[in-house]
Amino acid sequence: MLAKENTKARQILVDEKVAEGGIATLATLTPAELVEKANLALTDVSHRLAKKVSAVTANRLRNGGIVYELDLSEAASLIQENEEVRNSFMSLYSSEASVKPRLYPVIVERVPLSFKPESNADIRNLEEGNGICTGEIERARWIKPPARREANQRAAHLIILLTNPRTANRIIRDGIRAHQTLLWCRKLLKEPSRCLKCHKIGTGHFASQCPEDEEKCGTCGSNHRTRGCPVNDREGRYCINCKMRGHAAWDRGCPIFITQYDKLASKVPDNQYRYFP
Ligand SMILES: [Zn+2]
Ligand SMILES: [Zn+2]
Ligand SMILES: [Zn+2]
Repeated sequence: MLAKENTKARQILVDEKVAEGGIATLATLTPAELVEKANLALTDVSHRLAKKVSAVTANRLRNGGIVYELDLSEAASLIQENEEVRNSFMSLYSSEASVKPRLYPVIVERVPLSFKPESNADIRNLEEGNGICTGEIERARWIKPPARREANQRAAHLIILLTNPRTANRIIRDGIRAHQTLLWCRKLLKEPSRCLKCHKIGTGHFASQCPEDEEKCGTCGSNHRTRGCPVNDREGRYCINCKMRGHAAWDRGCPIFITQYDKLASKVPDNQYRYFP
């Protein structure tokens, strides 16, 4: 009997690259056929672990990706973390598909704005300057859209997505160096969700299921899209959650956000630990 709480640890995500005008072959297969296909490709993984590894279920995502549940979390980790194993699995599986490595998100605090997350060179420099293997930083993005910065802001929090949990834990412990500065890192925790239409926090609904008729602005609370908000000073911001001026509904310093965050932290065990398991 497989424990339910371990399901996530036993999952791998397979994506199919379909050339323009090509046919998505995975889309034509039934779950049973998909499982059989994965089982044929798992021979090398079984061999390495000296244990028979099997796929249990195959679930198709809306974007065409397939989430496989394996019967052994060790096998899922091995495929996601070891490039050689991943390549061998994929070569047996399908030349058109790829396994997404599991990503470990880390917040880097107060990164100078001269850093360009979309620049490949900046990412590679960050890896090189910190003894991180090439490609272990999958990508990076600012935690907040640059448009929401204060006029005199010089640094901002950055999210980097790492493929190696040991590297993620090392920089959480030791920090990371960029632009001659030592920057502190922490694990990105699960945060309460906010509806992007009404901006209420912790309701459990998303914009597509929002019961409100009119879209509200997450910055000033008026009836327009957040993107087109004319407000550009702190005083003009209005939070629809706590009905207060001076901060926006998307502000992580909002008292309601903090309360919901703490509530979530006590429910999600992973939020209580500083490092990745
Ligand atoms: Zn809503
Ligand atoms: Zn607005
Ligand atoms: Zn608020």
